[in-house]
Amino acid sequence: MHLDCDFNIQHQVSLKKCNTFRVGGQARYFFEPESVDELLCFLRNKSSFMPDTPCYFLGLGSNTLFPDGNLDICVIRTRKLAGLSIEGHQVTAEAGLSCAKLAKKVSALGLNDAAWFAGIPGTVGGALRMNAGAFGGVTWAHVVSVLYADLQGHVHHFSPKAFHVGYRSVSPPFAGVFLSAIFEFSKAAAELDIKHYLQMRNDSQPIGTYNCGSVFKNPEGYFSAKLIDGLGLKGYRLGGACVSKKHANFIENISGNCSSQDILQLIQYVQNEVEKAYGIVLEPEVVIVKE
Ligand SMILES: Cc1cc2nc3c(=O)[nH]c(=O)nc-3n(C[C@H](O)[C@H](O)[C@H](O)COP(=O)(O)OP(=O)(O)OC[C@H]3O[C@@H](n4cnc5c(N)ncnc54)[C@H](O)[C@@H]3O)c2cc1C
Repeated sequence: MHLDCDFNIQHQVSLKKCNTFRVGGQARYFFEPESVDELLCFLRNKSSFMPDTPCYFLGLGSNTLFPDGNLDICVIRTRKLAGLSIEGHQVTAEAGLSCAKLAKKVSALGLNDAAWFAGIPGTVGGALRMNAGAFGGVTWAHVVSVLYADLQGHVHHFSPKAFHVGYRSVSPPFAGVFLSAIFEFSKAAAELDIKHYLQMRNDSQPIGTYNCGSVFKNPEGYFSAKLIDGLGLKGYRLGGACVSKKHANFIENISGNCSSQDILQLIQYVQNEVEKAYGIVLEPEVVIVKE
């Protein structure tokens, strides 16, 4: 008997609906564990039924650019691992919980400094991996500890000291997957409530279109959006990909069926133009999955 019969592994799955750009080809394998235990069991046994296939851990795909074509990977989507428990100021959240739900449930208890999470359209796991942040808040400023599994399915309990955490960048001690985190939030005077944070996004970002948020990190001392806007690139189009007219650091799949290659070429075009004009190399924030 093949072990993969015991897990609900799908084959040749289109990734288009699994990311907010709505692009990408087909994953050879796709697995959505029902629980943390099932995920660990999968990892512990994977070497016996798909030894050479790399895993890609996927939250809500709001910061992932998959390539076109067939991908010899196993995408493991965490969105069913969505447990949440709150005790006083400490919040334990599983990796697949959406940041929006985290913000809503936690803020409702008066823990106001979780409200900024509301506008991050990803999961807790994605926020931990990216050190997502907005309006002055950053994910790792609230982390007390995490449960992290290596690719063999061994679980490690880590404090933040085990990770190198920077601006939209987190280096784990070894490859693996966030299973859950304990966060601490406070009842400190609220900057703004969820409604206001969402309103501010609506005013400045192309919400409701197919994009990945900010494509580039801000270089130290600069705003990528300002650099790009300064070159008149808002609305610049390449195939079905377009620099947003509303926010110059966003690229939109405007036709709804553009290719990943269109987006990649537009990223490279913008990088070249910015480097030529200012001598600054823009580093992508979006995670570009290689073929
Ligand atoms: C409209 C819009 C607005 C946005 N605004 C912001 C913003 O204000 N601030 C901000 O920081 N980001 C923003 N983003 C980007 C994105 O939402 C964040 O980076 C988010 O944290 C990604 O979460 P995700 O679950 O979608 O990650 P995914 O795109 O699924 O994955 C991103 C990375 O995290 C890894 N990953 C995912 N889950 C796990 C896990 N459990 N364990 C280990 N690795 C994992 C993936 O392998 C990948 O490397 C925005 C995106 C959009 C579309």
